[in-house]
Amino acid sequence: MSLSPGSSEALYAEACRLMPGGVSSPVRAYRAVGGTPPFLVRGAGAQVWDVDGRAYLDYVGSWGPLIAGHAHPAVVRGVTETAARGSSFGAPTPLEVALARTIVASVPSIEMVRLVSSGTEAAMSALRVARAATGRRAIVKFDGCYHGHADALLVRAGSGVMTLDVAARSGGPWASGVPASAGVPPEVATLTFTLPFNDLDAAEGLFRQRGEEIAAVIVEPIPGNMGVVLPRPGFLEGICGLCERAGALVIFDEVITGFRVARGGAQALYGIRPQLTCLGKVIGGGFPVGAYGGRRDLMGQVAPLGPVYQAGTLSGNPVAMRAGLETLALLDDAAYRRLDELGGALADGLRDAARRAGTALVVNRAGSMLTPFFTAEPVVDAESARRADVARYARFFHALRERGILVPPSQFEAWFVSLAHTEEDLRRTCDAAAAALAA
Ligand code: PMP
Repeated sequence: MSLSPGSSEALYAEACRLMPGGVSSPVRAYRAVGGTPPFLVRGAGAQVWDVDGRAYLDYVGSWGPLIAGHAHPAVVRGVTETAARGSSFGAPTPLEVALARTIVASVPSIEMVRLVSSGTEAAMSALRVARAATGRRAIVKFDGCYHGHADALLVRAGSGVMTLDVAARSGGPWASGVPASAGVPPEVATLTFTLPFNDLDAAEGLFRQRGEEIAAVIVEPIPGNMGVVLPRPGFLEGICGLCERAGALVIFDEVITGFRVARGGAQALYGIRPQLTCLGKVIGGGFPVGAYGGRRDLMGQVAPLGPVYQAGTLSGNPVAMRAGLETLALLDDAAYRRLDELGGALADGLRDAARRAGTALVVNRAGSMLTPFFTAEPVVDAESARRADVARYARFFHALRERGILVPPSQFEAWFVSLAHTEEDLRRTCDAAAAALAA
């Protein structure tokens, strides 16, 4: 089979004729920063190589899954071995039991789990369970949080949606209950209330007025999709309290933070027990895996145990399960300590480089995920994130890329450090950042 090598430029031109925007997911098209995306052909550890032969130190990490780095030998060995025994059966396998066992043992609030193939599916399905269990229709999400592209969740959404004008074309993105995508029926979007992240007063106001209609609040406990934003002390607890009093459920979307900020995710860090949790990314070790789980009585609503239907041809796929299992096996306490040290060193280095260049930069960080925002004010929600200088970020992005450093091509994303990064990699990155900011 010919894998049609060529240059990134030539491949991109062909891809644009064949696929919308030349990509399989919008942010990869570099619309927010301009230029042609590199077409990647290889990854090893913290490095990737493009088809033009250029090497980059990578902080995209496939947008979060690659906590162990690219092509980790244990993961490669495991998936090769599993694939050789058959890649999919559409029947139960021991590997999915092993991954479910690992998830239930690691994430405090998950008593039972359903495996799916993406974060989108996880969030969409968790909402369905919440609506079924409460008999209510409305849901609440936060401006700038992204939970995949299910209709109900494309309202004031983060990630790529924050960089596109698609929302503006479809009637104004940031009004509550208005879809952030064409093709989402307004009737669906009106069931989605939105609130500013970190604003408990606004949440109290909404619950006072509409609390009885709300099935669930879905939240990224540490948002990564408006760039990294930290929850104020007491904010998540406050949301849980409001939900409890109103008879609504709390869904933590830990697709990014699960097994990333701690083995048990953000809920373990903060000592909070949401009723339902969504996982993805790290639990698949670079393969398509998502999961949702939680209280046993709630998961008992899911077919075939209960009336909530949800299914998937490739759900629990053995090769993907093996990749997840091999990855999670690497994540002990020492690994999280190291990830935190590396993340801290990168954040400090970026702040230092900005200070020396006289550039206003706010770096938000949770362990090995961080975002440098080109702004002088604290970034605590989507509104303050949107005030960051995205043109300055785009210049920074390209200056880093010229120096062999690949970071997310948008201000509103998380950078990810992996176990494969070294202190020397970080020094190189911080030197490149200093040169990029001085240029
Ligand atoms: N939830 C969160 C918090 C995410 O970051 C993402 C993806 N970036 C999703 C859900 C959707 O996951 P997927 O892209 O696998 O559908």
